[in-house]
Amino acid sequence: MQRLSFAAFLAIFLPLAGLADTSHISGICPGLDVTATAPEAGLHDLICRTATDHVARLSACGILPTRRISVTAAPAIEGLPANCVGAFHCERDEIEIISPETLAVRDVPGFIYKGLKPEAAFVSILRHELTHALLEHTTEDSPISSAAHEYIAFALQIEAMTDDERAAFLETNGRIAAMSLDTFNMVIYRFVPGRFASSVWLHYSTPENGCRFVRDLIEGRVVLGTPLRFP
Ligand SMILES: [Zn+2]
Repeated sequence: MQRLSFAAFLAIFLPLAGLADTSHISGICPGLDVTATAPEAGLHDLICRTATDHVARLSACGILPTRRISVTAAPAIEGLPANCVGAFHCERDEIEIISPETLAVRDVPGFIYKGLKPEAAFVSILRHELTHALLEHTTEDSPISSAAHEYIAFALQIEAMTDDERAAFLETNGRIAAMSLDTFNMVIYRFVPGRFASSVWLHYSTPENGCRFVRDLIEGRVVLGTPLRFP
Protein backbone atom coordinates (compact mmCIF):
# COMPACT_ATOMS: atom_id res chain seq x y z
CA MET A 1 0.00 0.00 0.00
CA GLN A 2 1.42 3.38 -0.98
CA ARG A 3 0.45 5.41 2.02
CA LEU A 4 2.55 7.79 4.05
CA SER A 5 1.52 9.34 7.29
CA PHE A 6 3.09 12.40 8.80
CA ALA A 7 3.07 13.38 12.42
CA ALA A 8 3.13 17.09 11.79
CA PHE A 9 0.83 18.38 9.11
CA LEU A 10 0.39 16.34 6.01
CA ALA A 11 -0.55 12.93 4.71
CA ILE A 12 0.48 12.96 1.09
CA PHE A 13 2.18 10.78 -1.46
CA LEU A 14 5.86 11.22 -2.19
CA PRO A 15 8.54 9.55 -4.25
CA LEU A 16 10.73 7.30 -2.12
CA ALA A 17 12.68 9.46 0.30
CA GLY A 18 16.33 8.92 1.19
CA LEU A 19 18.77 9.95 3.84
CA ALA A 20 20.67 13.14 3.14
CA ASP A 21 23.49 12.06 5.48
CA THR A 22 24.96 8.59 4.98
CA SER A 23 27.06 8.38 8.19
CA HIS A 24 25.13 6.42 10.80
CA ILE A 25 24.96 3.65 13.39
CA SER A 26 22.58 0.82 12.59
CA GLY A 27 21.51 -2.27 14.51
CA ILE A 28 18.63 -4.32 15.88
CA CYS A 29 17.14 -3.13 19.19
CA PRO A 30 17.74 -5.74 21.94
CA GLY A 31 14.73 -8.00 22.41
CA LEU A 32 12.71 -6.24 19.74
CA ASP A 33 12.13 -6.80 16.02
CA VAL A 34 13.08 -3.20 15.25
CA THR A 35 16.15 -2.02 13.36
CA ALA A 36 17.31 1.46 14.36
CA THR A 37 19.59 3.68 12.30
CA ALA A 38 20.82 7.02 13.66
CA PRO A 39 23.72 9.47 13.26
CA GLU A 40 25.11 8.63 16.73
CA ALA A 41 24.87 5.98 19.45
CA GLY A 42 22.86 8.05 21.91
CA LEU A 43 20.07 8.60 19.42
CA HIS A 44 20.17 4.93 18.39
CA ASP A 45 19.65 3.99 22.04
CA LEU A 46 16.83 6.53 22.40
CA ILE A 47 15.03 5.00 19.42
CA CYS A 48 15.39 1.51 20.93
CA ARG A 49 14.22 2.60 24.41
CA THR A 50 11.24 4.42 22.94
CA ALA A 51 10.34 1.51 20.67
CA THR A 52 10.60 -1.00 23.53
CA ASP A 53 8.30 1.07 25.73
CA HIS A 54 5.82 1.93 22.99
CA VAL A 55 5.51 -1.59 21.57
CA ALA A 56 4.61 -2.74 25.10
CA ARG A 57 2.01 0.04 25.41
CA LEU A 58 0.48 -0.88 22.06
CA SER A 59 0.47 -4.58 22.90
CA ALA A 60 -1.57 -3.82 26.02
CA CYS A 61 -4.26 -2.49 23.66
CA GLY A 62 -4.01 -5.47 21.29
CA ILE A 63 -1.95 -3.66 18.64
CA LEU A 64 0.81 -6.11 17.76
CA PRO A 65 3.72 -6.23 15.32
CA THR A 66 3.88 -9.10 12.84
CA ARG A 67 7.21 -8.37 11.19
CA ARG A 68 10.34 -6.23 11.46
CA ILE A 69 10.12 -2.45 11.39
CA SER A 70 13.03 -0.15 10.63
CA VAL A 71 13.44 3.31 12.11
CA THR A 72 15.83 5.81 10.55
CA ALA A 73 16.67 9.15 12.14
CA ALA A 74 18.69 11.80 10.32
CA PRO A 75 19.27 15.57 10.48
CA ALA A 76 17.51 15.86 7.13
CA ILE A 77 15.49 13.47 5.00
CA GLU A 78 15.37 14.05 1.28
CA GLY A 79 11.90 14.19 -0.16
CA LEU A 80 10.19 15.09 3.08
CA PRO A 81 8.29 18.40 2.86
CA ALA A 82 9.70 21.18 5.06
CA ASN A 83 6.71 21.10 7.39
CA CYS A 84 6.91 17.33 8.01
CA VAL A 85 9.05 15.81 10.73
CA GLY A 86 8.39 12.09 10.36
CA ALA A 87 6.87 9.55 8.03
CA PHE A 88 5.86 5.90 8.02
CA HIS A 89 6.33 4.12 4.70
CA CYS A 90 3.92 1.24 5.00
CA GLU A 91 5.07 -0.42 1.76
CA ARG A 92 8.51 -1.08 3.28
CA ASP A 93 7.78 -1.00 7.03
CA GLU A 94 10.10 1.95 7.53
CA ILE A 95 9.81 5.01 9.73
CA GLU A 96 11.88 8.07 8.86
CA ILE A 97 12.18 10.83 11.42
CA ILE A 98 14.03 14.13 11.75
CA SER A 99 16.63 14.04 14.55
CA PRO A 100 16.33 16.24 17.68
CA GLU A 101 19.15 18.57 16.60
CA THR A 102 17.09 19.60 13.58
CA LEU A 103 13.87 19.83 15.58
CA ALA A 104 15.70 22.21 17.95
CA VAL A 105 16.23 24.80 15.24
CA ARG A 106 12.86 24.49 13.52
CA ASP A 107 10.89 27.69 13.27
CA VAL A 108 7.79 26.74 11.32
CA PRO A 109 4.55 28.57 12.11
CA GLY A 110 1.96 26.18 13.49
CA PHE A 111 4.48 23.50 14.50
CA ILE A 112 2.35 21.40 16.84
CA TYR A 113 5.30 20.22 18.99
CA LYS A 114 6.80 23.65 19.67
CA GLY A 115 5.95 23.40 23.40
CA LEU A 116 8.12 20.29 23.79
CA LYS A 117 11.88 20.09 24.13
CA PRO A 118 13.52 18.67 20.98
CA GLU A 119 14.25 15.25 22.46
CA ALA A 120 10.71 14.96 23.89
CA ALA A 121 9.26 16.00 20.53
CA PHE A 122 11.42 13.39 18.79
CA VAL A 123 10.25 10.65 21.17
CA SER A 124 6.63 11.69 20.76
CA ILE A 125 6.79 11.79 16.97
CA LEU A 126 8.45 8.38 16.99
CA ARG A 127 5.63 7.00 19.15
CA HIS A 128 3.11 8.41 16.65
CA GLU A 129 4.79 6.69 13.71
CA LEU A 130 5.34 3.42 15.60
CA THR A 131 1.61 3.36 16.28
CA HIS A 132 0.90 3.72 12.56
CA ALA A 133 3.35 0.90 11.81
CA LEU A 134 1.90 -1.61 14.27
CA LEU A 135 -1.66 -0.61 13.39
CA GLU A 136 -0.84 -1.39 9.77
CA HIS A 137 0.24 -4.88 10.83
CA THR A 138 -2.77 -5.43 13.10
CA THR A 139 -5.36 -4.27 10.55
CA GLU A 140 -3.75 -5.73 7.43
CA ASP A 141 -6.71 -8.00 6.67
CA SER A 142 -9.30 -5.41 7.61
CA PRO A 143 -7.92 -1.89 7.04
CA ILE A 144 -9.25 1.02 9.03
CA SER A 145 -9.72 4.57 7.77
CA SER A 146 -6.96 7.17 7.68
CA ALA A 147 -8.91 9.20 10.24
CA ALA A 148 -9.02 6.21 12.59
CA HIS A 149 -5.28 5.68 12.04
CA GLU A 150 -4.58 9.28 13.01
CA TYR A 151 -6.96 9.16 15.99
CA ILE A 152 -5.19 6.13 17.44
CA ALA A 153 -1.69 7.42 16.64
CA PHE A 154 -2.33 10.74 18.40
CA ALA A 155 -4.21 9.15 21.32
CA LEU A 156 -1.44 6.72 22.22
CA GLN A 157 1.26 9.29 21.52
CA ILE A 158 -0.25 11.91 23.84
CA GLU A 159 -1.06 9.29 26.49
CA ALA A 160 2.63 8.45 26.70
CA MET A 161 3.69 12.07 27.30
CA THR A 162 4.62 13.21 30.79
CA ASP A 163 2.02 15.42 32.49
CA ASP A 164 4.15 18.50 31.81
CA GLU A 165 4.65 17.59 28.15
CA ARG A 166 0.93 16.94 27.69
CA ALA A 167 0.06 20.26 29.33
CA ALA A 168 2.51 22.06 27.02
CA PHE A 169 1.15 20.25 23.97
CA LEU A 170 -2.43 21.21 24.86
CA GLU A 171 -1.33 24.76 25.60
CA THR A 172 0.06 24.96 22.06
CA ASN A 173 -2.85 23.26 20.34
CA GLY A 174 -5.90 24.22 22.39
CA ARG A 175 -8.45 22.32 24.40
CA ILE A 176 -11.50 22.33 22.17
CA ALA A 177 -13.55 19.16 22.61
CA ALA A 178 -14.99 17.50 19.51
CA MET A 179 -18.67 18.29 18.93
CA SER A 180 -19.12 14.77 17.56
CA LEU A 181 -17.07 11.95 16.07
CA ASP A 182 -17.38 13.76 12.71
CA THR A 183 -14.65 16.12 13.96
CA PHE A 184 -12.16 13.29 13.52
CA ASN A 185 -11.81 13.54 9.75
CA MET A 186 -8.88 14.03 7.39
CA VAL A 187 -9.82 17.59 6.45
CA ILE A 188 -9.47 18.73 10.06
CA TYR A 189 -6.30 16.62 10.36
CA ARG A 190 -4.64 18.21 7.33
CA PHE A 191 -5.60 21.82 7.93
CA VAL A 192 -5.57 22.06 11.74
CA PRO A 193 -3.63 18.99 12.92
CA GLY A 194 -3.05 20.40 16.38
CA ARG A 195 -6.79 20.89 16.86
CA PHE A 196 -7.36 17.31 15.63
CA ALA A 197 -4.74 15.98 18.05
CA SER A 198 -5.94 17.86 21.12
CA SER A 199 -9.57 16.91 20.39
CA VAL A 200 -8.49 13.28 20.12
CA TRP A 201 -6.90 13.48 23.54
CA LEU A 202 -9.94 15.10 25.17
CA HIS A 203 -12.15 12.36 23.69
CA TYR A 204 -9.82 9.38 24.25
CA SER A 205 -8.98 10.33 27.84
CA THR A 206 -12.57 10.13 29.12
CA PRO A 207 -13.20 7.03 31.25
CA GLU A 208 -15.64 5.43 28.79
CA ASN A 209 -13.22 5.62 25.84
CA GLY A 210 -9.48 4.85 26.06
CA CYS A 211 -8.36 1.46 24.77
CA ARG A 212 -11.98 0.28 24.57
CA PHE A 213 -12.72 2.92 21.93
CA VAL A 214 -9.51 2.06 20.09
CA ARG A 215 -10.69 -1.55 19.93
CA ASP A 216 -14.03 -0.33 18.54
CA LEU A 217 -12.13 1.43 15.75
CA ILE A 218 -9.87 -1.53 15.00
CA GLU A 219 -12.73 -4.03 15.00
CA GLY A 220 -14.99 -1.80 12.87
CA ARG A 221 -17.74 -1.10 15.40
CA VAL A 222 -16.98 2.61 14.97
CA VAL A 223 -15.84 4.11 11.65
CA LEU A 224 -14.23 7.56 11.41
CA GLY A 225 -13.98 9.50 8.14
CA THR A 226 -13.85 7.55 4.91
CA PRO A 227 -12.62 3.94 4.92
CA LEU A 228 -9.31 3.32 3.14
CA ARG A 229 -10.80 0.65 0.91
CA PHE A 230 -14.27 -0.24 -0.18
CA PRO A 231 -15.43 -3.84 -0.64
ZN1 LIG B 1 -0.11 10.19 11.65
